[in-house]
Amino acid sequence: MYIRQAKWAALAATAVLALSACGNAGEEDKNPVNNAVEKNAASKFEDGTPMKALAEAGKIKIGVKYDQPGLGFKKAGDGIPVGFDVEMGKLIAAKLGIKADDVEWVETISDNREPFLQKGTVDLVIASYSITPERRQVVGQAGPYYVTGQQLLVKKGSDIKSVADVKGKEVCSVTGSTSLDQVKAKGAKTRGFETYSQCRDQVLDGAIGAMTTDGSILLGYAAENPDELEVVGDPFSTENYGIGYAKDKPELCQFVSKTIKGAQDDGDWAKAFEATLGKSGVETPAPPAMDACA
Ligand code: GLU
Repeated sequence: MYIRQAKWAALAATAVLALSACGNAGEEDKNPVNNAVEKNAASKFEDGTPMKALAEAGKIKIGVKYDQPGLGFKKAGDGIPVGFDVEMGKLIAAKLGIKADDVEWVETISDNREPFLQKGTVDLVIASYSITPERRQVVGQAGPYYVTGQQLLVKKGSDIKSVADVKGKEVCSVTGSTSLDQVKAKGAKTRGFETYSQCRDQVLDGAIGAMTTDGSILLGYAAENPDELEVVGDPFSTENYGIGYAKDKPELCQFVSKTIKGAQDDGDWAKAFEATLGKSGVETPAPPAMDACA
């Protein structure tokens, strides 16, 4: 765990500069991985499994973020969202014989990820969704497929330089995220918004001193406003991103984990990273080992 975190710290420092130099991190390659759609996919799954049902229907609903450059991003009027999380979704859909165009991409915010899975609003959530024991009580989470850590985004020149400076200061994040509780524990006065872009706007306006969440998310926002915003301090948590599925469909864990592992092994995971989060030449991390399914 420590090695993962230290690695992320080094990566984050490089990434701020690299992404800033390169401009808008939302402008990813629209099709970085040549997702060969599995032929006769339905015949490859056992009867009665959720994979068989999805492959037979030729449809899947995947919840992703729409306002997180590099991970899940979609402007009004755009087609398929773009980002690393979206690429993971496309890889999974392809194995079910479903083209990216036929995926129903659904916008999720941090606070509705569990209810969306529980109610069947979506089949999968791939949305900067940290694996936690509490979440695994109510939904399934396969992974981790990516590891990051919580940091701070501030206006350039801010007196907040690291998490040691947040005590007594107003810091925003989103409700339903791991980030709010973690920064509260550091003594900050927390403000929770529905989306990260709302929180970012408060920081840009100077109304709130800092925004906090995963470095992978903050880097995208910093890259959009390199003259005004910067990511500061070392990561102060380890966030292991998982792919959420409904608890009553445990078969999805093996299938999703095997698909992501296959992409890690054949280089598609790295290609997806390079074209999204790593767009500006940030070194591609070694893919994390996936947890065993229960
Ligand atoms: N990864 C953290 C979480 O799942 C923060 C990012 C987010 O809110 O999506 O809560």
